[in-house]
Amino acid sequence: SVRQITSVNPATEEVLGRFDPHTPDQIEAALARAAGAAAQWRSTPIEVRAEHLHRAAAIMRADRDRLATLITQEMGKPIAEAEAEVEKSAWCCEYYAEHGPAMLARESVETAATRSHIAYDPLGLVLAVMPWNFPLWQVFRFAPPALLAGNGAVLKHASNVPRCALAIAEIWEQAGCPTGLFTTLLVGPDAVPSLVADDRVHALTLTGSTEVGAQVAAIAAAHLKPQVLELGGSDPFIVLADADIPAAAAAAVTARMLNAGQSCISGKRFIVEDAVVEEFTEAFAAGVAALTVGDPFDRDVRIGPLARASIRADVLDQVRRSVSAGARIVTGGTVPEGPGFYFRPAVLDNVTPEMAVAAEETFGPVAAVVRAKDALDAVDIANATEFGLGAALWTSDLDRAEFLVPRIDAGAVFVNGIVASDPRLPFGGVKRSGYGRELGVFGIRQFTNVKSVWVG
Ligand code: NDP
Repeated sequence: SVRQITSVNPATEEVLGRFDPHTPDQIEAALARAAGAAAQWRSTPIEVRAEHLHRAAAIMRADRDRLATLITQEMGKPIAEAEAEVEKSAWCCEYYAEHGPAMLARESVETAATRSHIAYDPLGLVLAVMPWNFPLWQVFRFAPPALLAGNGAVLKHASNVPRCALAIAEIWEQAGCPTGLFTTLLVGPDAVPSLVADDRVHALTLTGSTEVGAQVAAIAAAHLKPQVLELGGSDPFIVLADADIPAAAAAAVTARMLNAGQSCISGKRFIVEDAVVEEFTEAFAAGVAALTVGDPFDRDVRIGPLARASIRADVLDQVRRSVSAGARIVTGGTVPEGPGFYFRPAVLDNVTPEMAVAAEETFGPVAAVVRAKDALDAVDIANATEFGLGAALWTSDLDRAEFLVPRIDAGAVFVNGIVASDPRLPFGGVKRSGYGRELGVFGIRQFTNVKSVWVG
């Protein structure tokens, strides 16, 4: 492809940098180097690999301000959120450096053999196709466990975050990993099919839209490459009548508006029991209206621009279609004057499940309030979606929560809390939110060859 990869500051619309995509020759050289590095790496003792993860974490913590600035410049999140993202990425390295070796230790199993055990061997090279919404964290959810397990990684990052993508490869290089063990390719989507097909690539991890995930998954399936797919979500945030409503409303603001709503696990559908819907919506909308929109480098700002013009156009269109279907805008939903892809965060009430803001993934600061008759009706509405990533349930009755949690179709349910990823807990979805798990013990074993060894 001759299309340049362009980094644009979404707050100002200024071009930060243009990159020529890697040529087929450069891609070939990079793959050959990555495969060689992975071969060397797999025979490096796991304790030594863990030291490299500790070094990567230390590099990120020392370089936090520069990395956070890169994130905010390229995709527009408030600077404090970018700093937290760098810290979390470093934590994930430390977590797997400390706990990963035990997760991959061989397990003895008693059989008819003299000895038999399960070993967790590396797969080889993992191809990662990643999105821009958490330019570091999305990559650091998969890279520390994949590398600790003895794999190499080839990253095709989103085209609007090339400088973050290059900085990530530098971190691993500076940490002392073999050159090319973690490789960033600056390529467009058109390069992905032949990367997936390449014999030197053994597995795929993709985070992005359900549509793209399904397309790339089909190619990986044709080549029998194992894969992890983290796709879209439309997480329910259920508020029952017995919940602490002020606490739920305050949490709802964060759940929906962090990262200007550009997260797969944002609460998107606020499903509220009739008895408390007025009280909840009023408090929620007041909290949203109080958020300062503006320059993401200003520390008072809570909502920066959306990352790309197309993301803003999508949410504007979803709001417009929902309003013409009968939804009511309680606050926000308009575009401020001036440059930058800004959008005033919105709360919509009277939303029904078939309206755009409830039926589709809203990847921006738009909250849909849906009314429910009772708790079971709320769960039915929560499940009436093609997605199944996370879910939040707010209630003061933990016995009732215990009864409802198994009835919610999602990869994670948080009771009286905001759905968040955590290196210690597996992360992933059901239904059209994808399959496979990242993080925790499941995440590290996902990129291994679970090998049975039998000695007679
Ligand atoms: P995409 O799914 O299009 O992009 C994710 C990654 O896939 C990027 O690296 C992208 O590269 C790549 N890609 C895009 N098209 C193809 C293709 N045909 N073959 C192979 N790779 C491809 O997400 P967008 O950024 O365009 O966002 C669109 C929507 O996706 C959002 O509105 C949101 O609903 C959802 N999304 C969900 C995310 C999540 O965390 N679950 C994250 C991001 C988006 P390139 O940038 O070069 O196109």
